[in-house]
Amino acid sequence: MNSKLYGKLIFELSHAGSKGYSLPKNNFGHHEIPSSMRRQEDAQLPECDELTVVRHYTNHSGNNFGVNNGFYPLGSCTMKYNPCINEEMANLPQFAGLHPLQPVETCQGALEVEYNLQQSLAELTGMADFTLNPFAGAHGELTGLMIIRSYHQSRNDDKRIKVIVPDSAHGTNPASAAVCGLEIVEVKSTAEGLVDVEDLKPLLGDDIAAIMMTNPNTLGLFEKEIPEIAELVHGCGALMYYDGANLNPMLGACRPGDMGFDVMHVNLHKTFSTPHGGGGPGSGPVGVRKGLEQFLPAPHVVKENDSFRVDNDRFNHVGAYLGNFGVILRAYTYILSLGKEYVKLVGPLATLNANYIKECLKDVYELPIEGLCKHEFVFDGLKDKSTDVTTMDVAKRLLDYGFHAPTIYFPLLFHQAMMIEPTENESKQTIDGFIEVLRTIAEEAKTTPDVVKSAPHNTPISRVDDVLAAKHPILTYKQLVNDKD
Ligand SMILES: *Cc1c(COP(=O)(O)O)cnc(C)c1O
Repeated sequence: MNSKLYGKLIFELSHAGSKGYSLPKNNFGHHEIPSSMRRQEDAQLPECDELTVVRHYTNHSGNNFGVNNGFYPLGSCTMKYNPCINEEMANLPQFAGLHPLQPVETCQGALEVEYNLQQSLAELTGMADFTLNPFAGAHGELTGLMIIRSYHQSRNDDKRIKVIVPDSAHGTNPASAAVCGLEIVEVKSTAEGLVDVEDLKPLLGDDIAAIMMTNPNTLGLFEKEIPEIAELVHGCGALMYYDGANLNPMLGACRPGDMGFDVMHVNLHKTFSTPHGGGGPGSGPVGVRKGLEQFLPAPHVVKENDSFRVDNDRFNHVGAYLGNFGVILRAYTYILSLGKEYVKLVGPLATLNANYIKECLKDVYELPIEGLCKHEFVFDGLKDKSTDVTTMDVAKRLLDYGFHAPTIYFPLLFHQAMMIEPTENESKQTIDGFIEVLRTIAEEAKTTPDVVKSAPHNTPISRVDDVLAAKHPILTYKQLVNDKD
C-alpha cells in the first residue's frame, strides 16, 4: 500500500481543476434554477481525478479489520464468520426488491420466512412465540420489558416499577430498564461470579416487575441457581427476563423456556451470524412463554390455513414493519444450513473452544475465577504483576500480530479484565495461533516491555488518545488554507 496516502483525507488529495466524472450530454434543454435557490459561492468539495478517488477509498477499506480478515475474539459480542450463502439469500431480488407496504398476497414467501424463523427460535429456546420486530439487542430488551409491563398492567398490578439487574450484566440491561421508565436495583455476584441468592432475597417484593439475567452470564459462567431464583422471583409475582444476546453456548444444550424464563431476546447478529459493528445491522427478536403471546407487538406474522397474514391489532408497537429483513433472512439461512442435527453442536463447540484457550493460557494470564466456563471467560491481566504492562498494552500488541483484540476492561468486576470468546466456528489451527501469540506477548512483557507498551507498531495509526477521541471527536474537515494552485 502507498504509505504516502495513509491518513490523508480526500480533501488533502484535492487538486484544483481535477475531475472524477464525465456526464452525458444534456438532451433535455436548459432549465434555469431561480437564483434565490442557488448557492452564492461554490461548495468546498474535493477535486480529484477518478483513479485518485478509487484508490483513496480502496486503500481505506483495506484498513478495516473484520471477521473476513482474521480472528475476532470479542467476549460478550459474538462475532462469527458470515457464510456467503447468507449474503446470496439476502441479495435475492425477489426478497431485496420487496416493498414493506406491498399487499400480503404478493409477498407470502417473505412472510413465510418470518413465520418460520419465529417458529424456529421458539423451538430452539423453549418459548411459545417470537416477534422479529426489534432492531437490536437493546431494542429487544426494551420490547421485552414493555411486554412485562403490559402483563402486570393487564392484571391491574401497577406497583411494579423496579427491575433487578446483576452487577455483572451488560450495560444495555440497566439502560433499557431506565428507558422503559423502570427503576434499577442491583443484585451482587458471589465470589464465584454467580448471582448471589442471599443478596437477592431481601430485594424481592410486590414492587418488582422482573429480574434480567444473562446465562451463561457475562463472565461466561452458567448460573446454577436458576431453578431457585425462578421460584423466588415468580413467588413474589415478578417475571424472569433472559438476555440471550449470545445464545450460542446454549444451542442444542438447554433452553431458557425450560429453565423458567418468561420473556427473552436473542441477537440474530451475534448468535445467528450476521456480522455487525459500528452500530449495526442488527436484529433482536423477543420470545415469550405460553400465556404472554398477546403482548407481543404489532405487526405480527400469523399463519392461517396455508397462508400468512399480518396481525396489526395489538397492544405494543416497537418499530415500523416486520424488522430488519436482511438480517432475518441471514439468520434463517444459517439455521437451515446447520439443520436440526448440527445446531446441537454449536453450544458444545463454543464451550470447548473457550475452555481450551483458558486452560492453555492460565499459567501466564491471571484467571480470577477457576473452573469450567461456557462460551467466554475473563482474565484479569497478566499473571506476572511485576511488569507494568496492562491489559490495554496486550490488546494493542495483539493488533501487531494480526488479531483483533478481545473485549477489554469489561465486565467491571476486575480491574484488568480481558474477555475472550472464540465462538464455535474457529479451527484448532487458528485458536492455537492465537494462544501462541498471547504467550509470546506475555514473554515480551518480561523481556521487552517497552515494545508492548508502545504497540501497535504495524498499524497505519499507532496509539490514539482514546479519551480525547471519545470526548472531542473531530468529525468535519475545516479547510485551513484556501488552496488556489
Ligand atoms: C451485545 C449485547 C447486548 C446488546 O445488543 P445490541 O444489539 O448491541 O443492542 C445485550 N446483552 C448482551 C449480553 C450482549 O452481549
